[in-house]
Amino acid sequence: MTSSFSTVSPSSTASAVHSKPTVKANVNLNEAPRIQLGKTTNQPVSDRQKALRTLFTQFQKLYAGVLEQQPTLAHESSLAQENDISGTTNNLKAYKSAIHHAAVSISRRPPPDRIPHSSIGTVRESRAAQQAEQLAKASRLSPERLRRYCLSHETMVQWGYPDSTITELVVPSTTCVSSEGFAQTCYRCKIDFVVSTSQDMGDCIFHHGRTVPERIEGKRVWIYSCCRKERGAAGCEEGVHVFTDNDDDVKLAQRVPYKTTAQIIEEKGLKGTKHVDVVGIDCEMISTTAGSSLARISIIDENGAILLDEFVRQTVSVLFSGVRAADLENAVMDINDVRAAACSFIGPDTVIVGHGCVDLSNSVTSDTSRLENDLRAMRLLHPHVIDTAILFPHDKGAPFRRALRDLVKEKLGYFIQVHTADAGHSSVEDAKATLDLLKWQVRDDQDDIQA
Ligand SMILES: [Zn+2]
Ligand SMILES: [Zn+2]
Repeated sequence: MTSSFSTVSPSSTASAVHSKPTVKANVNLNEAPRIQLGKTTNQPVSDRQKALRTLFTQFQKLYAGVLEQQPTLAHESSLAQENDISGTTNNLKAYKSAIHHAAVSISRRPPPDRIPHSSIGTVRESRAAQQAEQLAKASRLSPERLRRYCLSHETMVQWGYPDSTITELVVPSTTCVSSEGFAQTCYRCKIDFVVSTSQDMGDCIFHHGRTVPERIEGKRVWIYSCCRKERGAAGCEEGVHVFTDNDDDVKLAQRVPYKTTAQIIEEKGLKGTKHVDVVGIDCEMISTTAGSSLARISIIDENGAILLDEFVRQTVSVLFSGVRAADLENAVMDINDVRAAACSFIGPDTVIVGHGCVDLSNSVTSDTSRLENDLRAMRLLHPHVIDTAILFPHDKGAPFRRALRDLVKEKLGYFIQVHTADAGHSSVEDAKATLDLLKWQVRDDQDDIQA
């Protein structure tokens, strides 16, 4: 083992109660470090030096397997540990007792076999690292833990998910790629119109907000959230007419047929691909001459790392979009390509997690921001789905759903979707928050089992 060094490792585990102790160059690393005197010292130097030797002996023993990788580690930890204790007590007896307890606690740690490791560092640091490790372990979204939260086929159908038993979803009786030239009802202003890309801006006068009940002068009235005008008032925004097939899955299949995850994997030769256990998913939709169309898909893994984040090339004309035109123009994958890309992560056993109700006042179209509509937009039939809006039911029961941001605030104590209503929601942020909620539930249920 080297006995001297010239640089201090950047991953020093020293804590900072006093000024942070550092290992000086050219010291003998096989001997206990010398006490480093700060501005004040609460205990006699001779006692501190003795304590340092005690701590160093324990750290040196504990780190035997990793000292070769980081020879200064025992010096750093013993200096930091002594500094921690010296800074928090004036009483010599209490100081000695704290040193003794620290030495015993260090001697009981399992030896680290790598750096970083929860056994490395001062008592405080090691304890915090162990707690973080336990939390991660308790939050682990393993397939066995997740099965109980997955929706049954009946529940999926009840909550408006596409019904995988309807063969016409996979094998449509007819095709209807675009509705250009056909009459539809605009979902914004409720007027019948002929679908066309040559509409003028202002053909559609509408409110983008919802109506919410309010009590004004003792009378209950419905007020638009967008402009605070009373229900029935002329629209406060102008656009073009747009339509959606809503949850008419047979009609949607005529535009782009549905596929099962297993089918895509078979067709694309993705068998044998290492699929992940669980994904969070979020989609953005736009209005086209074929109704609502998938414009962007974001898929994250259980740690929040992005697996896929793609804009989708449109094969029909766009009528209205909350997505930048350039992003759509530059997109290389069409819906079939992104679906195949998604199935390089999503296998037949993967659990897809989403929240069935993101703040609706933010959505571009009336039917976005629900997990069943994300799957609908992808035209994907998948058997293992967890919907946190169903997992955390509304007090009033179905069909009411709690907003994602309210649940996150209540259960996790942090805020999401704090930007303005026009900015829309961030797909990745929502997907991550949804997985965090599920981890909370997994931990909570384990506590129940242990209790
Ligand atoms: Zn309005
Ligand atoms: Zn309209």
